[in-house]
Amino acid sequence: GEPVCECNICYSGSDCSHFIPDCIANADSGDPLFLEPFWLQHAATSAVVVAGWHRLSYSYNYDGDISKELERLIRKLHAIVGNAVTENRYIIFGAGSTQVLSAAAYALSPENTSSPAGVVASVPYYALYKQQVEYFNLAKFKFEGDAHKWMNKSDGSTYMIEYVTAPNNPDGRLNKPLLQGTNVKTVYDRAYYWPHFTPIPAPADEDLMVFTLSKLTGHAGSRFGWAVVKDETVFNKMMHHMEVNSIGVSRDAQLRAFQLLKAALRGEGRELFDFGYQTMKTRWESLSSIISLSKRFSVQKINPEYCTFCNNVREFSPAYAWVKCEREEDKDCYAVLQAAKITGRQGYRFGAEDRYVRLSLVRNQDDFDMLIERLNELVSEEDGAK
Ligand code: PMP
Repeated sequence: GEPVCECNICYSGSDCSHFIPDCIANADSGDPLFLEPFWLQHAATSAVVVAGWHRLSYSYNYDGDISKELERLIRKLHAIVGNAVTENRYIIFGAGSTQVLSAAAYALSPENTSSPAGVVASVPYYALYKQQVEYFNLAKFKFEGDAHKWMNKSDGSTYMIEYVTAPNNPDGRLNKPLLQGTNVKTVYDRAYYWPHFTPIPAPADEDLMVFTLSKLTGHAGSRFGWAVVKDETVFNKMMHHMEVNSIGVSRDAQLRAFQLLKAALRGEGRELFDFGYQTMKTRWESLSSIISLSKRFSVQKINPEYCTFCNNVREFSPAYAWVKCEREEDKDCYAVLQAAKITGRQGYRFGAEDRYVRLSLVRNQDDFDMLIERLNELVSEEDGAK
């Protein structure tokens, strides 16, 4: 039958035409529903049907080796996009990059040591690194906050793990590591290193790179991520972590990831990226053109870079706007936006000042349209707006 109409939260009524005036624009979480229209266009090729008797076993090899096929497809994906070197590297799967990131921290932490490894990321950083470390084994890890504070300071005896998020969540920059030394290990979180969000200047070639389906195809709910790992010992430790933690990733999730990537890479394999880029570019342009009229608010500016995937110099089209409230009295930028019926995410969650707020641009079109409407109202109310 006909699908039941589900109204956008800002509308009601049998045909969803009644606007709810007090409705709040949700720009909080990074739920990547902006990719949903692409999959509506590719519903048949991306569908997965699994019979009840299929894939009961723990073993990868029971019914065709989906893991190996998936691994091959991931290598092909990176080769097409040119965003990571995978030759002579190991690939390991996880339940989202969340599980892969924790496996990496365990694999890189020193064994048989009395003092915990210090874990850092440069401010503003993705909150999960802090949350995981603070939840993990306290004898093994200690979250040490902003990597900037440890530059040229570490005496070399403290074991440090630095998370480098490139492009960064929340500000979209291609972060570089700040710490170096024999006792420093670096985990590159490459969740957003796809043409949707950033020019691709060169294939990433680091020792430990983490990727996720969530921000690539938008299937955050499938919980599928992977790491590309150079060192065999680190790889084995990460595999051990996955074994002990969950006996590996759901075979159903692997099958789904396989089918989605196969559908996305049909033909020249560019369509998903063209769609992702066009959507994010259009969104970024509408948001930044509104903010450019404002004296009260500003957003990050990132210089364009050459993109090898697109063969031209390209602007960034970030997943999030990192908004700053410029007025002295607007110290709580979250509250300022909330009063204007916009929900963002507070700066403190990223280790930054509350003068900053992150606005998500990756949600569905209704959420984005509502955000633009509310921002327009807010900026046009400004005294002396440009
Ligand atoms: N890393 C970064 C930088 C992220 O923004 C996110 C999700 N917002 C993740 C990792 C985790 O995503 P997932 O577990 O869905 O792969």
